[in-house]
Amino acid sequence: MAAPITTISDSKERQVLNLIAAHSHIRGLGVTPDTLTPKPTADGLVGQQQARKAASVILQMVKEGKIAGRAVLISGPPSTGKTAIAIGMSKGLGEDVPFTMLASSEIFSLEMSKTEALEQAFRKSIGVRIREESEVIEGEVVEIQIDRSVTGNNKSGKLTLKTTDMETLYDMGTRMIDSMTKEKVMAGDIISIDKASGRITKLGRSYTRSRDYDAMGPDTKFVQCPDGELQVRRETVHTVSLHEIDVINSRTQGFLALFSGDTGEIRSEVREQINTKVAEWKEEGKAEIVPGVLFIDEVHMLDIECFSFINRALEDELAPIVIMASNRGSTTIRGTNYRSPHGLPLDFLDRVVIISTHPYQADEIREILAIRAQEEEIDVSPDALALLTKIGQETGLRYAGNLITTSHLLAQKRRAKEVETSDVQRSFQLFYDPSRSVKFVAEFEKRFIG
Ligand code: ATP
Repeated sequence: MAAPITTISDSKERQVLNLIAAHSHIRGLGVTPDTLTPKPTADGLVGQQQARKAASVILQMVKEGKIAGRAVLISGPPSTGKTAIAIGMSKGLGEDVPFTMLASSEIFSLEMSKTEALEQAFRKSIGVRIREESEVIEGEVVEIQIDRSVTGNNKSGKLTLKTTDMETLYDMGTRMIDSMTKEKVMAGDIISIDKASGRITKLGRSYTRSRDYDAMGPDTKFVQCPDGELQVRRETVHTVSLHEIDVINSRTQGFLALFSGDTGEIRSEVREQINTKVAEWKEEGKAEIVPGVLFIDEVHMLDIECFSFINRALEDELAPIVIMASNRGSTTIRGTNYRSPHGLPLDFLDRVVIISTHPYQADEIREILAIRAQEEEIDVSPDALALLTKIGQETGLRYAGNLITTSHLLAQKRRAKEVETSDVQRSFQLFYDPSRSVKFVAEFEKRFIG
């Protein structure tokens, strides 16, 4: 399962789904695990080896928890794989490490202030791994037989369970920490579990070996109670984001808002209380902070207020790693009259690590388009692929990628199994790329408006 990907609001979620679909062929960064060397083509990613190498080094640091509170900028011309690389990073994160995607334009909404939208995005990107120990109490009197292979200090042995509630016990998995018991749980012991207290009492021994034993997981342990009885305890770990905890504890919103996505603004006192609570859990060893990744696309769309917010937020103890993407060179910082590289204020730029992506060669474009076609399960003839590649070189990868889908629809209409050059040509005529579209409108204006 991939890392959870969250977004700002429900309506925005659809945009992000589309975004993910465009990148559905990407399964990781395509590097060898030990040396982090990018393979020319792997995990659905093609070329951009330098950027992929840099991204994988950062990913490694995120995994080791070493790089929270930093910012990375992926800069490069349009359609050169900036988002693709960020998605590749998200696939390489642990299952419960949060990855949040935010298109900068999303934060300009009437529902909430820009800084609130950013704050929520930051808190969606920080996970809290919560450990909970609960007693296992299920079924009537339950009989447990310990397999003969489990003796004295053998902690990795197998248990055979016979119970009226087999499902629960199979689910729970267990590990023997028998050193904690005065009377060791031995192979063949029969133990009863009291329904009310979950306590285990040794009843006696059985020498019948059962065939249906179960290999036990690491979650459950036997604990010695003060009165000498055994207790089965199960440790469960789940990860939620700080934002989810905020919403659940916000009196005005309530947890249902998590489903509707309509969380509105959350009061700062709620957040302060949550931070204090989480710090306590951390102190008591009940929780662990999992800094995740916040990916901000089109970062040049943010304004000076947003940048100063991010600058401050990165200083916070609870900060994710922020990865931004921009396809602008020198441009005006929104909300000011100043120009700067990628539209980022200079003091912010100072703390940013930059990865750049470069335009593709024809063979790389061909390969990416072939991967996309395969992902969409579309057969494309070699000639049609060559034409798509040429179009990709001239108009960009995204447009050429979209033409695969539209050409396929045309091929289907004429009941053909494979996309041919003629489908691509027709598609090219029907659907404009941005530069032709601009030219058309300019001519139109000249004729009718000018
Ligand atoms: P923009 O600046 O316009 O936001 P971008 O640099 O983020 O563009 P992407 O959206 O990542 O570009 O790339 C466009 C399309 O090409 C996507 O479908 C993406 O998955 C695919 N793509 C880009 N680069 C690669 C690559 N190196 N390997 C595989 N697929 C790629």
